[in-house]
Amino acid sequence: MLNIKDLTVELDSHTGLVRAVDALSLTLSRGETFALVGESGCGKSMTALALMRLLPENGRVAAGRLELGEEELFGLPEARMRAVRGGRIAMIFQEPSTSLNPVMRVGDQIVEAIVAHTPLRGTAARQKAIDWLRRVGLPEPERRIDEYPFRLSGGQKQRVMIAIALAGEPDFIVADEPTTALDVTIQAQILDLLKQLQRERSLGLLMITHDLGVVSGMAHRVALMYAGQIVEVASAEDFFAQPRHPYARLLLSALPDASKRGQALAAIRGTVPPLWGEFQGCRFEPRCDRAMPHCRSTLPAMERPAPDHAVRCLLYASDAPEHAPAHPSAAAAAAAPDLAPAAQPGQRPEPGAPLLQVEQLSVRFPIRRGLLQRVQGHVEAVQGVSLDLCAGETLALVGESGCGKTTTGKAIVQLLRGKAEIAGRVLLKGDDLFSLDGDALRAARRQVQIIFQDPFASLNPRMRVFEILEEGLLSLRPEWDAAARRAQVEKLVGQVGLRSDALTRYPHEFSGGQRQRLAIARALAVEPQLIVCDEPTSALDVSVQAQILNLLRGLQSALGISYLFITHNIGAVEYVAHRVAVMKEGRIVESGSVDDVLDRPQHPYTRTLLAAVPRVRSQAAPLSAV
Ligand code: SF4
Repeated sequence: MLNIKDLTVELDSHTGLVRAVDALSLTLSRGETFALVGESGCGKSMTALALMRLLPENGRVAAGRLELGEEELFGLPEARMRAVRGGRIAMIFQEPSTSLNPVMRVGDQIVEAIVAHTPLRGTAARQKAIDWLRRVGLPEPERRIDEYPFRLSGGQKQRVMIAIALAGEPDFIVADEPTTALDVTIQAQILDLLKQLQRERSLGLLMITHDLGVVSGMAHRVALMYAGQIVEVASAEDFFAQPRHPYARLLLSALPDASKRGQALAAIRGTVPPLWGEFQGCRFEPRCDRAMPHCRSTLPAMERPAPDHAVRCLLYASDAPEHAPAHPSAAAAAAAPDLAPAAQPGQRPEPGAPLLQVEQLSVRFPIRRGLLQRVQGHVEAVQGVSLDLCAGETLALVGESGCGKTTTGKAIVQLLRGKAEIAGRVLLKGDDLFSLDGDALRAARRQVQIIFQDPFASLNPRMRVFEILEEGLLSLRPEWDAAARRAQVEKLVGQVGLRSDALTRYPHEFSGGQRQRLAIARALAVEPQLIVCDEPTSALDVSVQAQILNLLRGLQSALGISYLFITHNIGAVEYVAHRVAVMKEGRIVESGSVDDVLDRPQHPYTRTLLAAVPRVRSQAAPLSAV
């Protein structure tokens, strides 16, 4: 049994002392998978690092106990803790590329863990390392044991990380977003592997994730964190069937899927509060759709509305007012969408003349080697892709990383000219973009914009928001004077739901979701007819994702924009797209209406892809269930 009691973690920051984890208590038994979930910044990863005593230099465990069986770990000398770390509790990190030692063969890294925590040495330790590699499903372990990490794919590296974690034969594993960096099919393999190893070795698994689909498929119990505290603990079944805390209900309502087409998603208003200073009342109160007057002045304690189900909410206190505010519907609870939702969800708009036609598009990148950088070969990134898109329509392009989705998007937006060999045609309202140049190309480019996955990397950090938005207008609307540009920029920030004081600020002053709104505003600046959205929500939390999806649908409804929506998020595809095309190894293997492709997939790869997507087993019970 791993027993955490009143764990409090403090961090020094330039704004003062931050209480990242506040009096967190939980127990984890052997053989149990316990999921710690919540949005970024709620304290999940700090909890994991505190358990391993691996907090960053500016952090410390300010209070609490960590008991592993009879032993209290926070009081152990570091030398003894080193034996516990890896030997009794091991950790799997999110990003295997940065967690493996790049200059050490993978076998040596596993042997190191074996030698540190078991009596095996020499050949016996090496044999054991090969055995672990075989157990975690790495092909040809006898040969791969002498490889360096860079020779392995992302999924293989994560398998090696798991082998290292298991090599010390621990009782408990802390896995911090162990599959977030992986493709869905690899994710499914790694999750299956963890389940199987857990059964065989009766491991206790503390899984930290923001992916509620993964939790639903893996966890026995779930704890939801908010602003450094656990706000709900329940069995996974109960949590998904009948979430009690208003935050849990809103989070589940914010997940996009087919059943919510035509409704605005429940985008939870506001953001997680800063964790410095003292709280006088409930931390969720400013965002809560059921807040009562005394929530602002009373600290909620953990209540037990059902056996094995605990909730930190005053609605469940014994002295709760009898007529607490009823749950509004999920849609009404959402922050008001910025524009009306799309009128015809899931239905393809009346097909008119196609806006975009892609005919037999092929893209290959030269491989250059040697001092003279001679071309030695080619990577065929996209091969004979054809698709079309009409006004006001959303076509989703799905597939795993490296399948050519992003390259297709970039080729359509004309970002690969001069960088790759391109064949085929991209017609925008009948004009072949590859045959245009000069003013004609500039005018066509205005019609097709792109939004990238990482809004921070795609916004110039040295420019204020006004300059960022004005930049596009200057190059693509040279006829406009300063006053016309200013008016347009102010209209844009309003359209994406930001206040006009945003114009004088820099990108780093915004949250991830706000930055993605800025990226959308920049794309809208030149009044495009088509926006290529390249994984626009994959770096965002569920509630922020809901805001962005609501925004995109609202803009489509109001302005008739078409989207090529590149994603691996099948829930978002169901919710937002009219049609879908599935890509594999540079080719489209299946395409059709969302219902046809997702409900009745024909191609074996589509079936594999859909089967690998983790989904929440059951949605929230009717919202009046409290
Ligand atoms: Fe909402 Fe009040 Fe419960 Fe906090 S205590 S979650 S504000 S109802």
